[in-house]
Amino acid sequence: MSDTIFSKIINREIEADIVHEDDHCLAFRDVNPQAPLHVLVIPKKPIDKLVNAADSDQALLGHLMLVARRVARDQGYGDAFRLVMNNGEAVGQSVFHLHLHVLGGRAFEWPPG
Ligand code: AMP
Repeated sequence: MSDTIFSKIINREIEADIVHEDDHCLAFRDVNPQAPLHVLVIPKKPIDKLVNAADSDQALLGHLMLVARRVARDQGYGDAFRLVMNNGEAVGQSVFHLHLHVLGGRAFEWPPG
């Protein structure tokens, strides 16, 4: 997988507003927020998109969900938040380093656009 802007954030080559870090993942505020809470949770392991994750990534993927929950709680949005993961350019993925969007703080429509 080629370097992305997110691997540069992991390596501290570019700055980000980091709200959580542990051995396996990093969470930071989206530079172009779509809601009062908009944090991205990414694995440190470079996986370009969900379809290319391995079965052995099961625990890592579960960890991202639990970190997303913790971030929403810590930021005061634990009662209502939305998780989004775009898989593929056709559905809006623009950075090819797997990430969960954690969104909260406004009304959201369903179905999503
Ligand atoms: P996606 O379109 O699902 O691939 O989401 C990529 C997200 O990364 C977008 O919401 C961008 O606003 C966000 N983004 C791009 N560059 C940065 C950056 N340097 N720091 C924080 N968020 C970024």
